[in-house]
Amino acid sequence: MQYTDILVVGGGIAGHTAALAARRYYHNKKVTLVRKEVRALIPWGLAYACAAGTLNRFVLGDAWLQQAGVKLVIDAVTTIDRRSRRVATACGEEISYAKMILATGSSPAPFPLKGADLPGVFVLKKELPYLKEIQQRLAEAGNLVIIGGGLNGVELALACSTRPQQRVTLVELLPHCLARVFSEELCELAEEKLRQRGVEIITAAGVAELLGGDRVEQVRLSNGLTLPADVVILANGALPRTDLARQAGLETDAQAGILVDDYLRTSDAAIFAAGDCAAPRSHAVPGVPLPRQARMAGQEARVAAANLFTLQRRRESTIARFAIAIGDLTLGAVGPVINPAAGAGTEEPASAVSTMVASDLAVKVAYARENGVALAAQIQGQPLARVRETMAYLAAAIEQQTPFTELALA
Ligand SMILES: Cc1cc2nc3c(=O)[nH]c(=O)nc-3n(C[C@H](O)[C@H](O)[C@H](O)COP(=O)(O)OP(=O)(O)OC[C@H]3O[C@@H](n4cnc5c(N)ncnc54)[C@H](O)[C@@H]3O)c2cc1C
Repeated sequence: MQYTDILVVGGGIAGHTAALAARRYYHNKKVTLVRKEVRALIPWGLAYACAAGTLNRFVLGDAWLQQAGVKLVIDAVTTIDRRSRRVATACGEEISYAKMILATGSSPAPFPLKGADLPGVFVLKKELPYLKEIQQRLAEAGNLVIIGGGLNGVELALACSTRPQQRVTLVELLPHCLARVFSEELCELAEEKLRQRGVEIITAAGVAELLGGDRVEQVRLSNGLTLPADVVILANGALPRTDLARQAGLETDAQAGILVDDYLRTSDAAIFAAGDCAAPRSHAVPGVPLPRQARMAGQEARVAAANLFTLQRRRESTIARFAIAIGDLTLGAVGPVINPAAGAGTEEPASAVSTMVASDLAVKVAYARENGVALAAQIQGQPLARVRETMAYLAAAIEQQTPFTELALA
C-alpha cells in the first residue's frame, strides 16, 4: 500500500490547482493526485473550442505537476475508508493518506428523454475523447439542435452560427434563453443578436422525444413541432459529483454538493472539498444557488490546500460573474439574476433597480431598499474587456456591501 501525506481526488482545474497549492503551502509533504482521465481539460470556452476544432489547445499541462513534485496517478478512487484513512482505486491499488481534498467536480445533469441514447445525441462532458467526437460530428452536421438555452448551449449555438452549411436551432423550456443569468431585457437582446446570426430560437418549448433509427434524425417538441437533427446536444446544466463522498458517510446534498465549512472542510476534518463538487456559498440572496465556475473552483482549491494542516484561509464570498459577447454586443451579469422569469428561487433579489449609463456601457444595479447596498448588476456594452473590467469592479463593490450611490462607473 502506498502512503501520501496529501491525497487529491480529481484532476480538473480544482484538483490540479489544489495539488500545486498544497506543494507550495506544505513543501515537505508528499502530494498525490488521482484522476480518471489521461488528459485533463482547461475548463473554459469548451463549447467554442469544440466548434472551432481547437480542443487540443485546452489540455491542462501535467508538466506543472511533475515540476512541483506531485505524484500523478491515472486511476479512479472507488471507496474511502475514513477510519483507517485509506482509499481503494479501480485498478486495485490502496493509498493511505493523512489529509485529502475531494475535487471530483460535476457531470452533466441527467436529461430523462426518450431517444436520448441514440447515436448523435451528446451531453457536454468535460472529457477530451468525448468532446473530440462532438467536435467531429459538429463539423459534419447539417442540422444541429441544442436543447437548453443556458450559457453553454448559447455559446455552442453562437460558435456554430459561423458555419454557412449548418442550421442551428436552440430549444429552451423557459420563456427566454439565458434566463437564469440575465434580466429579461438582456435575454431579449441576446436572442435578437443570435437570430441575426442565423440561430433559430424556440423558447417556452419542451422536448417530447428524440426520434431516429441507427442515429438521431428528429427532435419532437411537446407542442408537436418536429425539427430535423443530425446532432443533438443536451445542455441541461451540471450536478456535483457527490457519490464517493456520500458513500464514505460525508454530509452531502445532491443538488448543492459536498457540504463544507468556510475552510472547505467536509464533515470529516481530515477531508476537504473544492470546486464543482463542493456546495457553493450563496451570496446576498438566501436560497439562490451560486452557479459553478472554473474561477471559483481554482480559488477554493487554493483555500482548501492552505488549510490542510493549519487553518489559515477562509473561503471568500464569491460573486458569480458571467459575460458573453455576441457580435458587437457584450452582456455581463454580476451576482444573482434580476429576472423573475427564471423560476423559483431566483426572484428579483432587490426591492429597487437603478440604471446608470457610462460611456459605452449601460449598467443596471439592483440594491436593497433599506440600506441602498448593491446586490447584483447587469451590464451591456462593448468591448468585452471593458465589460469584464466593470464586472470585476462591481463584484468587489457588491462583496464590500457598497451603497449603489457610491459606485463610480464613469
Ligand atoms: C461546456 C462547458 C463550458 C464551460 N465553460 C466555462 C467557462 O467558460 N468559464 C468558467 O468559469 N467555467 C466554465 N465551465 C464550468 C467549469 O467547467 C467548471 O466550473 C470547472 O470545470 C470545475 O472544475 P472542477 O475541477 O471542480 O471539476 P471538473 O472539471 O468536473 O473535474 C473533476 C475531475 O475529477 C475527476 N474525478 C471525479 N471523480 C473521480 C474519482 N473518483 N477518482 C478520480 N478522479 C475523479 C473527473 O473525472 C474530472 O476529471 C464550463 C463547463 C462546461 C461543461
